[in-house]
Amino acid sequence: MNVIIFGPPGCGKGTQSQGIVKKFNLYQVSTGHLLRIEIKEKTEVGKKIEQIISRGDFVNDDIVNKLLKKVVINPNYRNRIIFDGYPRNITQAESLEIMLNADNQSINYILFLKVNREIIEKRILGRIICEKCNKTLNEYLNKEEIEKHECGITYLKKRKDDNQASIITRYEEYIKKTKPVLDFYSSRTYFHEIDGSQKIQVITNKIEHILKV
Ligand code: AMP
Repeated sequence: MNVIIFGPPGCGKGTQSQGIVKKFNLYQVSTGHLLRIEIKEKTEVGKKIEQIISRGDFVNDDIVNKLLKKVVINPNYRNRIIFDGYPRNITQAESLEIMLNADNQSINYILFLKVNREIIEKRILGRIICEKCNKTLNEYLNKEEIEKHECGITYLKKRKDDNQASIITRYEEYIKKTKPVLDFYSSRTYFHEIDGSQKIQVITNKIEHILKV
């Protein structure tokens, strides 16, 4: 099965994807993560997009689609992809259908995590990510887990774009460009809306229930 996990920045897409990949043998593709790798490795693409991501603007569709296509057509990930952070606008939603159709694949589940703006801010401002294993934690909510983190706390870093100014831009971009994707998908039988403000485990249980059906 292929799954899209969808929602505003900070809604928990990454956390929930990480929580279910093992159980369902899925491969998580986070376009944000792929783009951050380009920046870290200082590739040509990375140099072009660094400022764009820091500001909270969207990266050009061609760049994102190229990175994503490599994953979609990789036979190792065929029909077991969870898309995290893609599609983010209508053009990307259309491109995804074309990419999948061309490879005889389809979307089987769309999970929309609904969360209000206030919660989003708290989550993003407290977010820290392990540079080694990519686990996401929150410095206000997961103090104990942070202390015990198996890679060591030195690997836990804040994202450059997780600041107040960038959150405003990212949320505006979401409302303007990503929310229309919701209308594009919401009438489909495999679309599921989930209250993303609940505890992590409660949401994971709901997702597991949906994917098991
Ligand atoms: P995320 O890790 O999903 O929060 O994404 C971080 C940043 O990467 C976003 O604010 C955008 O600048 C960029 N980005 C991630 N995914 C996409 C996408 N599908 N289209 C355009 N830009 C993206």
